[in-house]
Amino acid sequence: MADVQTVVVGAGVIGIAIARKLARSGHDVLILEAEEKIAQHTSSRNSQVVHAGIYYPAGSWRAKLCVAGKTMLYEYCKGRHVPFEITQKLIVAVEDAHVARLPLLVEKAAANGVTDLVMLSAADAMALEPNLKCKGAILSPSTGIVDAPAFILSLLGEAEAAGAMLALASPLQAARPVTGGFELQVGDAQRTTLTCKNLINAAGLGAWDVAKGVDGLNPRHVPRPYFAKGSWFGMAGRAPFQHLIYPVPDDESLGVHYTRDLGGGFRFGPDLEYLGDSELEYSIDAEKADAFENSVRRWWPDMPQGMFQPDSCGIRPRIMLDGKTQSDFMFSGPKDHGIDGLLQLFGFESPGLTSSLAIADVVAQLMGENMR
Ligand SMILES: Cc1cc2nc3c(=O)[nH]c(=O)nc-3n(C[C@H](O)[C@H](O)[C@H](O)COP(=O)(O)OP(=O)(O)OC[C@H]3O[C@@H](n4cnc5c(N)ncnc54)[C@H](O)[C@@H]3O)c2cc1C
Repeated sequence: MADVQTVVVGAGVIGIAIARKLARSGHDVLILEAEEKIAQHTSSRNSQVVHAGIYYPAGSWRAKLCVAGKTMLYEYCKGRHVPFEITQKLIVAVEDAHVARLPLLVEKAAANGVTDLVMLSAADAMALEPNLKCKGAILSPSTGIVDAPAFILSLLGEAEAAGAMLALASPLQAARPVTGGFELQVGDAQRTTLTCKNLINAAGLGAWDVAKGVDGLNPRHVPRPYFAKGSWFGMAGRAPFQHLIYPVPDDESLGVHYTRDLGGGFRFGPDLEYLGDSELEYSIDAEKADAFENSVRRWWPDMPQGMFQPDSCGIRPRIMLDGKTQSDFMFSGPKDHGIDGLLQLFGFESPGLTSSLAIADVVAQLMGENMR
């Protein structure tokens, strides 16, 4: 009955990585993307950091897929000439209470299989980065940065070379389970109907609207979203640090940190601001500049004053599991919600870019187990 075997909703890094994996395994795949271009949302509004896998609870999807995805991502980029750099990163303690937390982070990382962290004295850290002031630090040798747009384009090229098709300006509006698959309503003013056997919801921030449009899906199988905006501020001039610089994280975010890109630019952020469900827009509050400056000055005391300009922002499609501090990626398949052929992805916030190739492997495995 099907027009296509598998429809992937969303042409962000995760949807495209999934489409590539499935197309290369012989699936007939169509990617539906609401926007007129690919990767216009979270996949182009992130720090472009290849995370090591330090912070996430042991055994969580974020921990497992970050560690696996990091290695896969570096190998992928090496093999395809996608620009990346293993910049390394310093996690810096600016208060005595933070110094005491550094060994706990090393332990947490080790539980995730990240065993290369190095504890540094304040003097050693400040010798590595002369602009830095801190009371102690951890060096993460495997953290890096990647040219995310180049990575995503490369994935898409490989997906299309393996036969995957991409339909832009094609929002999925509704999906009705029918015998052997789904009937989909696609498009805005002009609607098209098509059919597929398998439906993968990788719509990022839009995953909840896609889920609402699936006929017969019980809402209790859809987690509550906690959309969390993160803004960056930047300034002109030469990059003040070579390593990425992160403060000791709090329970909910990594804290305002320093990242640089492969073009010589640098910026500070993202912060964390929870949004209402209907507030998904990308404005930046310029009034936050002072708060950013105060935060960064704790570890960069000679930072020039009054130079911060709003840079960009992104929104984390966060879900909470077991209370506020436990967010994780969620794969929701037929065993969870009872609809054959439907796989939904919720909560793919950071480190989703780093993890994307490993996420695609999990989806392919779940497809093999549950789908048509
Ligand atoms: C502030 C911030 C910083 C981050 N920093 C990092 C980092 O340094 N390293 C890292 O590894 N990760 C980072 N991440 C996480 C990473 O960016 C995401 O995990 C990843 O980009 C998610 O990709 P995605 O494909 O799921 O979502 P998206 O890129 O949002 O793609 C979803 C796509 O679905 C489309 N869509 C929505 N609804 C529909 C519909 N109805 N029909 C068709 N298409 C639809 C959207 O238009 C969009 O293109 C960060 C995230 C944020 C917010």
